[in-house]
Amino acid sequence: MQMKVNEACIGCGLCCANCPEVFSMTDAGVAVAIAGPVPAGCEESAMSAKDGCPVEAIEEV
Ligand code: SF4
Repeated sequence: MQMKVNEACIGCGLCCANCPEVFSMTDAGVAVAIAGPVPAGCEESAMSAKDGCPVEAIEEV
């Protein structure tokens, strides 16, 4: 599983709170996902972050 944040992100920070192992905020004020696969053990929180994004900016790729 790998995650990607698209251009719809409004920078609310929710995904970073839900799954800081995968999502972080950039200096531009939007979220970014780590490159490469979601680490073992973080799949559930990554999916929760994806489902919780208010603008559906997180895609599973
Ligand atoms: S939850 Fe969605 S809108 Fe909020 S920072 Fe994460 S990707 Fe962006």
